[in-house]
Amino acid sequence: MVRVFTFASGKGGTGKTTLTINLGTCLAKFGKRTCIMDADIGMANLGLSLGMEDAPVTLHEVLAGKASIHDATYEGPGGVQVIPSGISLQGFQQADPELLRDILKDLVDRLDFLLIDAPAGISRDGVVPLAVADDVILVVNPELSAIVDAMKTKILAEVVGGHVHGAVINRATSESTTAVSQKMEKILGTRVVGTVPEDQNVRKAASAKAPVVIKYPTSASSVAFRRIAAGLGGIAYDKDKMEPKDSFVDRFSKVLFRGRK
Ligand code: ADP
Ligand code: MG
Repeated sequence: MVRVFTFASGKGGTGKTTLTINLGTCLAKFGKRTCIMDADIGMANLGLSLGMEDAPVTLHEVLAGKASIHDATYEGPGGVQVIPSGISLQGFQQADPELLRDILKDLVDRLDFLLIDAPAGISRDGVVPLAVADDVILVVNPELSAIVDAMKTKILAEVVGGHVHGAVINRATSESTTAVSQKMEKILGTRVVGTVPEDQNVRKAASAKAPVVIKYPTSASSVAFRRIAAGLGGIAYDKDKMEPKDSFVDRFSKVLFRGRK
């Protein structure tokens, strides 16, 4: 049985696509059958971020009733399945977001987790991903405008029958301490399930069209993504098994201790 997470925020640019890609890749690498879907059908960028902009069939065709969801599913990094969205305006106009409900029925038995990247704002195409999710994750940055917009998204999710599981604070800086996290919990009325630090390797990986957890697995954000993915997936977090060794330290210690018992 699939568990559906939808990543949402009122404000754009908080990190929904980044979280969907990296948490999905982590869950796939943990051995879970995982699919990530770009439901931001108007401003699609999940496929773009993974170098899949030429995908011949996308969610647009599926939501227009012209293709099956299986034809729009591609193999992504770490074994994660990817359903990209199209980038044409015409494709967007022809897509009916309501069809998403039926599509999910086709995925129920094939997956452990489906992670949906929702559009920003409170548009019609943003409502269905909130309503179909088992759990909505609010993606917030530690700034007032993002928090206020996340609050609106939470209310909307509840109005349409969605369940808000918690919030992830993305792009946290050293000032974003536990106190900030507690304040967020109070304002949003939901728990903070993880914090991802501001990390320049996120952008570097994005320009290389790869998830940071694959491109820079020892980077601070990658460590955070693995912890959050394990938490969401109900997987016991085992640092020794799950954390890759820092390759530089590894190489250095091999040179240093070469020949010693
Ligand atoms: P959204 O999907 O919510 O619009 P994105 O995931 O596209 O947001 O992120 C917006 C921008 O912020 C992208 O350029 C992305 O690379 C960058 N970004 C996201 N998370 C982080 C982070 N933790 N550290 C640094 N840059 C980040
Ligand atoms: Mg996005």
